[in-house]
Amino acid sequence: LTERLQNAFSKLRKKGKISESDLKSAMREIRLALLDADVNFTVVKNFVKTVRDKAIGADVLDGLNPTQQIVKIVNDELVKVMGDSAVGLNKSPKIPTIIMMVGLQGAGKTTTAGKLALKLKNEQKARPLMIAGDVYRPAAIDQLVQVGQQIDVPVFQLGTDVDPVEIVRQGLQKAQEENNDYVIIDTAGRLQIDEKLMDELSRIKDLAHPNEILLVVDAMTGQNAVNTAEGFNNQLDVTGIVLTKLDGDTRGGAALSIRAVTGKPIKFIGQGEKMKDLDVFHPDRMASRILGMGDMLTLIEKTQKEYDDKQAQDMTEKIRENSFDFNDFVDQMDQMQNMGSMEDIMKMIPGMANNPAMKNVNIDPKDMSHMKAIVMSMTPAEREDPDLLNPSRRRRIAGGSGRPVVEVNRMIKQFGQMKKMMNQMSKGNFNGMEGMLGK
Ligand code: GDP
Ligand code: MG
Repeated sequence: LTERLQNAFSKLRKKGKISESDLKSAMREIRLALLDADVNFTVVKNFVKTVRDKAIGADVLDGLNPTQQIVKIVNDELVKVMGDSAVGLNKSPKIPTIIMMVGLQGAGKTTTAGKLALKLKNEQKARPLMIAGDVYRPAAIDQLVQVGQQIDVPVFQLGTDVDPVEIVRQGLQKAQEENNDYVIIDTAGRLQIDEKLMDELSRIKDLAHPNEILLVVDAMTGQNAVNTAEGFNNQLDVTGIVLTKLDGDTRGGAALSIRAVTGKPIKFIGQGEKMKDLDVFHPDRMASRILGMGDMLTLIEKTQKEYDDKQAQDMTEKIRENSFDFNDFVDQMDQMQNMGSMEDIMKMIPGMANNPAMKNVNIDPKDMSHMKAIVMSMTPAEREDPDLLNPSRRRRIAGGSGRPVVEVNRMIKQFGQMKKMMNQMSKGNFNGMEGMLGK
């Protein structure tokens, strides 16, 4: 989607002024791009019509920078269709707040239950309890139990032989006794919506009176995601949506149409398999991401979350004083590894999403460990002062780390580029990012 829209816009960008036929072809590109991304047909039709009306109304034809105006109109409309602003979780006036996860098999209910529990724990010091309500496969219960162990959140389960409604009843009782402030109910899914499943989910809903019914939808299923969302919402009147698997190439399509078709807010997005990969959904950020402007804010938040405050401060100072050294370089690599793949991170940077250079950006964890080995073979003085690294020292380091000299040289060069880039970034200039990749 992003790519096609960018193509449409770059055609416009080349021209100083926009004619009516340009507008028409831009609208056609936008329509095709959206349809291509599996956005629901009716949503596309309304979207394009609104954009066209606004573009015509807004003096685009003789404006100073018509392209920017159209981009802005498209952006604003995307934001609007996706719900304007972020919507938080419903909260019960008295504990526990009950959250029920629903969705098709494989959508990510169990994973998201864990991610959400961890988020509540970290951000609100909450004490959640998870209930294993998927009784059709023993593996489903094990999976939730494992997730619970991983994030240190208790899981209530009664095996596979008890009716899920009864499990939920007893689980809620347990939460009452233990004073849990949140209860997250994991439920079964099917490959397709069927009556039996809906009946079971309705019975759980009637018993538990959840404050939040979160429909978990796999963003990669395109148009089917919309049908699924519509089906679940009609039967259960869900209160919010979680869009998972948005970590691959951006599927703005699902986010766009699900909100429009169900009228229900997308509350979270899943961006990876790890427990920390759950983010609040911000319509404006998703709109910019769809438009290829990058998701700077999410990136900044992500970075902030990963960095211990003090460390970040130290780093900023070092960068400002230009005293960033090889020890920091290693720390930095560790941080990067914690944040997710380099590729994910780079994609969020404006202009990088569609940058052909991105195709080759895949810093192998093995490369990282080679780089670390090289740094470890430096003396403390060399680590602090890269200028010391003359050819004979480089040969010694190569020998010590078991890496070829060319690799040592390359890494030292990359380090220099990274240092330069960071210095630029600290001055608010992100264009140096490519330097870091040694391109
Ligand atoms: P459930 O059947 O709805 O409970 O789905 P699961 O929670 O078992 O998830 C199915 C698969 O999708 C698992 O392999 C998860 O690791 C994976 N998954 C869930 N959410 C995400 C996500 O946001 N990104 C990625 N890449 N994988 C996810
Ligand atoms: Mg599951």
